[in-house]
Amino acid sequence: VIPGETVLSARALGIPDDEHVSEFQVMQSPGNQLFYIGTVRTRCADTACIECERSHLPVGYPEPNSRETDYFHNRNEAEMALATYNRCGELYKRRT
Ligand SMILES: [Zn+2]
Repeated sequence: VIPGETVLSARALGIPDDEHVSEFQVMQSPGNQLFYIGTVRTRCADTACIECERSHLPVGYPEPNSRETDYFHNRNEAEMALATYNRCGELYKRRT
């Protein structure tokens, strides 16, 4: 990955997490229909946030932000990798 392209590579550079980026979650690519662990952009908690206004993010319809892993062939595999990450911080199939 390009450094900073993924949340994990941004953290490795010491860049603080963006308030508009979700926790890791299982996502499905609309292109190849495969699954991955990634993040979405969402509104932050600040109702007067200029960044939220500027990006016109509709509430409840977040847009894809990052892909942290390579693809999984089924959702269950991705769910298991996410559970492992949440438990021990090791991300299986992490993009490098
Ligand atoms: Zn905001």
